[in-house]
Formats: sequence, C-alpha cells, structure tokens
Amino acid sequence: MKKEFREMLKEKGRSELPAVLLCAAECAPLAKTGGLADVVGTLPKSLARLGIDARVIIPYHRVIKNKYAGQTEHMFHFYSNLGWRKAYVGIEKLVLDGVVIYLVDNEQYFGDKIYRGGYPEGEQYAYFCRAVLDTLPLLDFRPEVVHCNDWHTAMIPMLAKTQYQGGMQENLRFLLTIHNIAFQGKFGFDYVQDLLGVDSKYYTWEFMELNGCADFLKAGCVFSDRINTVSPSYANEIKTPYYAEGLEGILNARSEQLSGIINGIDKDVFNPRTDGLLPARYDRGHLNGKAACKAELQQRMGLEVRPDVPLFAMVTRMTEQKGFDLVAHVIDDLMTNNDMQFMLLGTGDERFENFMRGAESRYKGRLCAYIGYNEELSHLVYAGSDFYLMPSRFEPCGLSQMIAMRYGSIPIVRETGGLRDTVAPYNEYTDEGVGFSFANYDAWEMRNTVLYALSFWNNKEVMHGLISRAMQADFGFELSAQEYARLYIWML
Ligand code: ADP
Repeated sequence: MKKEFREMLKEKGRSELPAVLLCAAECAPLAKTGGLADVVGTLPKSLARLGIDARVIIPYHRVIKNKYAGQTEHMFHFYSNLGWRKAYVGIEKLVLDGVVIYLVDNEQYFGDKIYRGGYPEGEQYAYFCRAVLDTLPLLDFRPEVVHCNDWHTAMIPMLAKTQYQGGMQENLRFLLTIHNIAFQGKFGFDYVQDLLGVDSKYYTWEFMELNGCADFLKAGCVFSDRINTVSPSYANEIKTPYYAEGLEGILNARSEQLSGIINGIDKDVFNPRTDGLLPARYDRGHLNGKAACKAELQQRMGLEVRPDVPLFAMVTRMTEQKGFDLVAHVIDDLMTNNDMQFMLLGTGDERFENFMRGAESRYKGRLCAYIGYNEELSHLVYAGSDFYLMPSRFEPCGLSQMIAMRYGSIPIVRETGGLRDTVAPYNEYTDEGVGFSFANYDAWEMRNTVLYALSFWNNKEVMHGLISRAMQADFGFELSAQEYARLYIWML
C-alpha cells in the first residue's frame, strides 16, 4: 500500500483500504455508448493495482447477454418491489480482466436498448437503483463506498438514506460522479412516487424538485456524501448558471463536498509506438512513422498528398457542445486564406453533417468530411494530423484532446472544463506548453488562434518542441485512480 494511503487511513483509525462498488448504466467493453463506460471499465483495474477491491454493478443489457452469456455465473435471484410491481432481479457474476462485474438481469427492462429515452428510461433506471439496493446485503462482497455515476444511478443514495433505515445500506458512504450535467433524469413527481414510493415531503426544492420536476441528479447531489465531476475546471464551472443546467444552487451549497478528477485514457490502446491500426508506428524520438501516417491519411481520404501542408483534424460527435457552429462560421475564411487541409471524422446533427459535406465539395482535395463512426480510421486521423481542433462550448473532461496529444497532433481548444485542465497553451517567450487555446466561445477568436498556431508551422524547432511535449504528457488512468482512492478514503 502507498505510504500516503497508510497515513490517511491511520488518521481514520484503521488500516484497511475500503472496498468499492461502482454502479453505472454502462461499462466498457461490455456495453458502451460514451466516456462513462471507459471510466467504469478502466478505474477498477487501476484501483486494484493500488490495493482497492473495486467491483462493478451494471444492468445485464441485451448486448452483453449476446456476447458473454456463456461466461457468467448465476448467483441468485429474487423479486423487488417497484411500487405496486414485483420485479424480477437476477444477479449474474462475470469476471473480466480480473474485475468482478455483477449484472442485474431483467428482460423486461434490459432486453433491448441501453437507454430507452424519455419516461421508459426513467422506469428502467428506477428499477436498477432499487435492484442494486436490494441486492447489496445478498452479495458475496461488502463494499463500504458505493460509487454512483450520472443520473441513472443517482437515486441510490437518497433511497438508501430515506427508505433503508436500520439496513446495512443506510450506513454506506456514497460518491456521485457527474459525467455530464446536461442529463439529469427529470420526471413528474407522481411517476417517481409510483415507481419508488418516494415520500412527498422530498418533493421540494431542498431535496429533489427542480423546475417542477422530480430530478434524479439533484437527489443524488443532495444525498451523496461526496460529489465529483470529471475535471477540476468543470467542477468549478457547474457552480455557475451557464453550465449548471439549474443545479448551481445545490452545487454551491455543497461546494465543500464537490471536487474534480480528470479521466485518463488507456495508454495501451492509444499508443503510437505499438498501435496495430496504423500503417507505421512512431514515438517522439522517431517521427518518420507519423509522416507516413499523414501520407496514408491524405491518400485514403482524397486529400492532396503533401507533407508541407498543415493538416487540421476533428474526430467528434457533431453537436453544438463540440463547437460546430464556430467551425461552420469561419471554415470558409480559413480555407480560402490559408494553405491548409482539414479532415473531419464525425456524425451528429444533420445540419452540421450537411454543412461539412458542402464544404468538402467546395474545397475538394483540401477538406474531407467523413460522416460516420469509424474507430480504426480515428487512430489514423489522430496519427496523421498536425493540429487537432476542439472548440467545445462545454467539455466535462474530453478524451479526444488527450488522444491527439499522445499521437503528436497539437490541440487547439477552447479553455473550458477538461480542455483547460489538460492543454497548457504555448508560451512563445518561455517555449512551454502543449497546444493552443482561446477563452471565449467566439468564432473569430477561434480563427485567430488557428492563425496563431499556423504562424509556427514553418518553425520546425517550435513545432518539434510542441509535439515532443504533447506526446510526453501523462494522461494515464493511474493518476485518476490515485485521486479516486484518496477521495474514497476521505469519505470513510
Ligand atoms: P464525448 O464523450 O463528449 O463524445 P470525448 O472527447 O470525451 O467526447 O470522447 C469521444 C471519443 O469518441 C474519442 O475517443 C473519439 O476518438 C471517439 N469518437 C468520436 N466520434 C467518433 C467517430 N465519428 N469515429 C470514431 N471515433 C469517434
């Protein structure tokens, strides 16, 4: 055990690290729609290296059943009360890469989509919260900390503290991680009362009411022992109305219990030295392979094969969150007045997809809009590009900028959330920094920052320094896991 942990534990009058149960809607590689799954999938492995027994509980989604049914062990089953309903709860156990994952089986709720959307999704995850709480005393595992993630599991602390008095659930410590505050799980109170039997005294602004709705995430913020989010900057931002989506009141009130821990990336998956998805491999001392990747990318995407032209890239969901309206506003100005290329890999809002298709036809051979989701191509885009654009309106953490840096593509970002915390801007006087950044959500400010970055393109020394520092930055999960371990110990 690390000396630091031993000392922290000593202050708490104990010597063992806490056991942790992570609750979430998804977990990579079993079921994944976003970054949440990566965190839930990777964190327990890194925690295990620190000596923490962290296990996971998620729904037994159809996609998991299809692939892993032969590897699970049926532990037990029972019926939970979901209002007037009696709902089957089957608990299957799966051990993957040394991590124990409990799967909550119920065909009615998890027989198709991971997220059904709207009210049906509320019922899916009200059931899941209830099932987790009823399962806890029956498990072959005694967690002290229950780590909830996003609104889908945010009712667990409230239910534990208001409906399980005298049970072991009441004495657990609860951490809530907010991955994206834009999604809160808002429903009519009658609906929540019918499903979970919540007492109407909790339907007030001090507890779970927000804008006339029962808000699962708000309940989580009120009843959890600690709250965290996925970057220190985002933890500050969500105390302001611009970012908080209505939760600024409770988050300010609880700011002493609110912190931010940046996510990491899987350094084995994203490693230009060993990446089998690339036509050539490289590291910061030997960048020839990167030039080969650029040539391959240009050739495959119908761009002019030119090593001398700077290639900008984006790999992204095409939504307003990601700053697409800024890109749409100035792309013509940039493409017309500069010798540059632009490669987009993304899907999302139709208006942005169509705009980018139009831009591709205007700048044939210089701009490529690949509309679609393509994991393999994404590696080539990170490796083959020179600059990586990420002008997000808000960004709780952001993984793409970290991946880009690992592949030596210099990020140009807006200073928000995790982008601010991971991309130290270039300082031409001290020759420090790993990328470029701008403060305001403003298309011309972004364009000027792109031009500033371009002004260094022919300065090989500056570019080489930037690439070298960016590739050296450590965004592994080990650092995040240590922060989480500290947080768990503090909570005891
Ligand atoms: P978010 O989770 O908000 O979409 P992140 O930057 O945290 O943004 O993570 C996005 C991840 O999804 C990155 O690993 C990125 O490479 C990947 N990704 C996004 N769009 C695509 C796409 N069209 N094709 C392949 N990978 C994509």
